[in-house]
Amino acid sequence: MNETQNPLAGYFRQPAIYIRLPSDGKFYPDGTLELSENNEYPVLPMTAMDEISYRTPDALYNGQAVVSVMQSCVPNIKNAWAVPACDIDTILIGIRIATYGHDLDLGVKCPKCDNEEDRTLDLRQALDQIDSPDYDEPIIRGDLKIYLTPMSYKNLNENNAIQFEEQKVLQMLPDTEIDEEDKIVRMNQALSKITKMTVHALAQNITSIVTPDATVSQTDYIADFLNNTDREFFNTIRDEITKRKRHSEIKPVSIECSECSHTYNQGYTMDMTNFSGAAS
Ligand SMILES: [Zn+2]
Repeated sequence: MNETQNPLAGYFRQPAIYIRLPSDGKFYPDGTLELSENNEYPVLPMTAMDEISYRTPDALYNGQAVVSVMQSCVPNIKNAWAVPACDIDTILIGIRIATYGHDLDLGVKCPKCDNEEDRTLDLRQALDQIDSPDYDEPIIRGDLKIYLTPMSYKNLNENNAIQFEEQKVLQMLPDTEIDEEDKIVRMNQALSKITKMTVHALAQNITSIVTPDATVSQTDYIADFLNNTDREFFNTIRDEITKRKRHSEIKPVSIECSECSHTYNQGYTMDMTNFSGAAS
């Protein structure tokens, strides 16, 4: 069926809001994003099919559902696996607003007196608080320059899945009926896999390391470097990667407890639990 010939096409869903991508359209490989001239991208509300796929836990886990929904609701995105990490929260908030409106009900609990209450957040403010990360400035040490880049959604998703599996192994091990020695062996295997993943994930945040003689951009060489640098420099690089990531992530909200007046920060994400909310 050709949509352009359908007399109902004019009644299809329309853009509900426009978002500005923190990446400014950078970091997308050719063909994965149809660039807009003013960095404004239309966001359509989810279809019923989008909603069903978004609510299927298995599809969510492998990232395919999020990818399909991003491509369905932000038509300029041609391949959502390529979306850089810095754009993900913005895109998901945009889709959430376009589909269910800008109010987000959040259940919060005061860490001081355990008082539980509901708050309503305005997601438009959450969007405004997201900054563009600065990936132009390298980390410099001596004559080394380290250039950073946001991870793609694909890499992000793969890393999360592996970490999730390994952590599950670690949590289940104490209860499994194998002898202690085997447990220790398996625990060490899981830990060493997590450590390797962590280094690999950090390496994926580095686009190149420039020395006076060479520019190195192979992830394996970079991971090798991370494994062999001193811990102080390793931590500097890790912290710098985290710092730049934070710019474009959802900021926690400040909540004042209505019982004891204690003020605390409450983080939240655009995962499935917060995504539907208003509609159901
Ligand atoms: Zn309280």
